[in-house]
Amino acid sequence: MPSHNYTDQPNETGAQAKRKVWHWHPELPITNAKIFVWPPRPLTIFKILASYWLRLTGRVVILLTAILSWIYFQPLLATAVNFEVEWVAHIYLRNLGLFVFFATALHLYFYTYKAQGMELRYDGREMARDSDVFTFRNQLFDNVFWSIASGVTIWTIFEVFFMWGYANEMIPSVNLADNPVWFVAIFILIPLWYSFYFYWIHRAEHWPPFYKKVHALHHRNVNVGPWSGLSMHPIEHILYLASPAIHLVIPSHPLHVIFHLQFTTLIAVFTHAGYDRLLIKDKSIIDLGYFFHQLHHRYFYCNYGTDEMPWDKWFGSFHDGTPEATKHQMQQEMRRKKRAQGSNKAA
Ligand SMILES: [Zn+2]
Ligand SMILES: [Zn+2]
Repeated sequence: MPSHNYTDQPNETGAQAKRKVWHWHPELPITNAKIFVWPPRPLTIFKILASYWLRLTGRVVILLTAILSWIYFQPLLATAVNFEVEWVAHIYLRNLGLFVFFATALHLYFYTYKAQGMELRYDGREMARDSDVFTFRNQLFDNVFWSIASGVTIWTIFEVFFMWGYANEMIPSVNLADNPVWFVAIFILIPLWYSFYFYWIHRAEHWPPFYKKVHALHHRNVNVGPWSGLSMHPIEHILYLASPAIHLVIPSHPLHVIFHLQFTTLIAVFTHAGYDRLLIKDKSIIDLGYFFHQLHHRYFYCNYGTDEMPWDKWFGSFHDGTPEATKHQMQQEMRRKKRAQGSNKAA
């Protein structure tokens, strides 16, 4: 496995150069939004979609958990006509179990038992303990608390309202038998919609007053772990987990909503794992961490979206991971601060 050494600044030498920004990182520069090339290249698009769906990836695992949830661990839709404790608790406990299972399994593997050592780990630092920044002064406890107390609760509330809406035929729906092509296409389109939705919501969350009160909670985590992904302020959870609201207007099936909600929650566990891939006996099992977003946690004013859509590129906030991009971003940031100071003085 290549282990790259590179530093904050281009052309650094000597002792400065020894300070590594990353313990490990993928080959740089990272690329952005390969599907959106002009003119469209159908073969390229097919290859990219195949790389998402025709091998073991986070979204394939989540599709399987959604299907298993729907078949074995979902109260019958007929019972959801009225709000009752039993079926609501059923959904809550299943969501809690799913989330705790994936986040704990990855945390134990990487951080407690260190089963992969430092191989493919982006940030070499340990999770923070005894730090004022975190609730309970501990990064892990902070992340567990916000993920469960707020994240799983709001996820469940949204899912419960959807199931109640489907049971009462208040939401437009489709089923597999009547429209199999559309039924399958929705699963492929959900991550693309999420990419679009997430960019704009996340961009808005970096508006300074909102950032300070809400989004800063997620950004307590500069070095991230599996439990950091869904560690957010309740207001951010409400916004972030509203991505599936699209199904209120696009005819879908309850399974699409279950997948969409599990995608928003569980993909965050995988992408914040802090390790690029999970290895077992040096064999790559599944891609996990997401260097594109890891850069966002390190440098804040870049990579607001995902690399499936080119919003960051179009709006000039794409960071490709290179020291040159870091330098460029710092210069832009200084200009932005100077402008803000100038307008404060003028006011
Ligand atoms: Zn952010
Ligand atoms: Zn994050």
